[in-house]
Amino acid sequence: MCRFANQYHHSWYRSSPHEMIGRHLQDIIGEKDFSARAPHLARARRGETSYFEIPVPMRNGSFRDAAVTYTPKMGPSGFDGLYILTFDVAVLHQRYHSVFDSTAAGFWVVDYAKLPGLLTQLSITDAEALGQAARTDPRRVRQLLDALPVVHLNQKACQLFDVDVKSAMDQPFGQWWPDESLQSFAQQLCAFLAGEPFFEIETVMRTEAGDKLDVLLTCTFVKKDPDATTVTIGTTDIRARVTKEQELAKAQTELAHAARVALLGELMASIAHEVNQPLAAIAADGNGALRWLAKDEPNLNEARAAINRMVSESRRASDVIAKTKSLAVKATPATTSFDINRMIEDTLLIVRRQVVNFGAEIETRLDDTAPSVIGDRVQLQQVLINLVVNAAQAVSSCPGPRYIRLTSTHDDDRVTVAVEDNGPGVGNHADRLFDVFFTTKQSGMGMGLAISRTILEAHGGAIHLVESSDRGATFTFSVPHSTRQGTSSDRRGGPYPGMIPPISKDR
Ligand code: ADP
Repeated sequence: MCRFANQYHHSWYRSSPHEMIGRHLQDIIGEKDFSARAPHLARARRGETSYFEIPVPMRNGSFRDAAVTYTPKMGPSGFDGLYILTFDVAVLHQRYHSVFDSTAAGFWVVDYAKLPGLLTQLSITDAEALGQAARTDPRRVRQLLDALPVVHLNQKACQLFDVDVKSAMDQPFGQWWPDESLQSFAQQLCAFLAGEPFFEIETVMRTEAGDKLDVLLTCTFVKKDPDATTVTIGTTDIRARVTKEQELAKAQTELAHAARVALLGELMASIAHEVNQPLAAIAADGNGALRWLAKDEPNLNEARAAINRMVSESRRASDVIAKTKSLAVKATPATTSFDINRMIEDTLLIVRRQVVNFGAEIETRLDDTAPSVIGDRVQLQQVLINLVVNAAQAVSSCPGPRYIRLTSTHDDDRVTVAVEDNGPGVGNHADRLFDVFFTTKQSGMGMGLAISRTILEAHGGAIHLVESSDRGATFTFSVPHSTRQGTSSDRRGGPYPGMIPPISKDR
């Protein structure tokens, strides 16, 4: 029986509080709605507070959504009645929608209700298994995406994706995901399954018409209500930024290319200059030898001496060419002790955009316990950039998921960095990869690996192709670490004076 009611009821039920006082709740809200509240009343009788959302009948026969709290009042002899707090959530919804629709980010509300069932069907038990399944067979991610319907989207999402609310509603969320971004969505699902509170990734989605759209995808996984199955996903347009980054990357690449071309020109000039002399001497000695042999009485000793000089001059010429590599690594080396993992992460910031352009994903497995290494950070970074860009170019020709894995490990002497890709491998060129000017690319220069080897040799380290098959290639380079060297943390000049060692004749 109602003992008290405030004025608010007047606007809802159009009955003033005094009309309600003394009446039974069942009488006020009707038999049917009273029984819908029975479980909550039972809880209140047990002394428990109950919070629930329920449609509230209005006097005119309509219903309004309300958030209701039943707080029991316990007396000396137990349950003594309850306070009912009813809040009109239509007001909340209105506020939510005005924020939802006027924000600058596109929001999608996607129903994940079918996800657990589908994962069971696919025998995927946890986030790790999902990540693995996504890498080996991206079609499974597509299957999942197609089973998650869009239940709402805001005006900004409609505008960004060029779609109207009606035609987007109940459509599978997969419709806005191109194949190349399936891994990004798989990562979002992994974060969801792993119970992470928040997820963010830069990815590419597609508009209703199929145009690519660069977005920053964000979502907060609300865990308060275990029955809620919807996830709200924010999509912010980052096309302008991505275009700028791409222009920057292009400019950087062009600059690097121009620098290489300039370097090549310089190298050519110096090779021509250096080789000219021995060539002229060879020609002169050749003519001399011919003359000695053409005499009526050939002077074999003079001819032999001339031919010997020809042989040594030609050695000098090939030495000059071999020195090309050391000429190419001409920046003054600065040897310091630095953290290889930080260098790898910094390098990824530089090459990430280029790698994404080739449709590849980068995965890192870094050895947190790796000691710092001794060497020229910039030169070793050049080596890594070259390996990663080579890997990205290699995987660009494969159809399926393209990945590049960077690993750091260490042993007693060295820290080793491995760059693994799932491209087509190096074929039967393994013996020639590190030769100067060896390239299989149309616009390649064949300098990268040759220069890298020179840099590593100068560091007392090594670079190798450790594996190659039609399923991919793995290159590693290793450098001595500081624990082994026992050096101070910033030693200029370093343990390798001059850095550039003489180049042996056989390469
Ligand atoms: P460039 O990249 O200019 O060709 P590099 O010296 O860096 O010069 O590479 C030489 C050659 O080695 C490449 O042209 C390519 O044939 C081969 N190569 C290098 N890395 C890879 C890789 N990850 N997968 C397959 N082939 C590779």
